[in-house]
Amino acid sequence: MVFRSHMDIALTEARAAAARGEVPVGAVITQDGAIIAQAGNRTRELNDPTAHAEMLAIRAACAALGQERLTGCDLYVTLEPCPMCAAAISNARIARLYYAAADPKSGGVAQGPRIFTHPQCHHRPDVYDGISATAAEQLLRDFFAAKR
Ligand SMILES: [Zn+2]
Repeated sequence: MVFRSHMDIALTEARAAAARGEVPVGAVITQDGAIIAQAGNRTRELNDPTAHAEMLAIRAACAALGQERLTGCDLYVTLEPCPMCAAAISNARIARLYYAAADPKSGGVAQGPRIFTHPQCHHRPDVYDGISATAAEQLLRDFFAAKR
């Protein structure tokens, strides 16, 4: 099967988040190559610090499938997941994680707590980083530059 990235849709979700005044991060979950959920950050809109793009996408995908796990599913996200989202990705049994920009400030996958390396982490997805990283970084830079 030819690999098809869904990061472009995640970037579209990130741009929509920026337009809502949210930190521009977007996520997409696919099953057998088909999109089953997509979301952008909504922490401000929902007054919910857990409403990260990945959390919302995981909740929507689980609701769509009517199950608590996303075994075999792939998650695309424009920014390296934070520790909370990395733990949720593990709990959801997501098979593959694709992320764009690295997050030295709040990332929990390749830096900081490196959640998937803990012995207490019972499921570790395959991780692919750097996909469309330049576009995702530019989006974040523009967003925070406009805030100053
Ligand atoms: Zn997060």
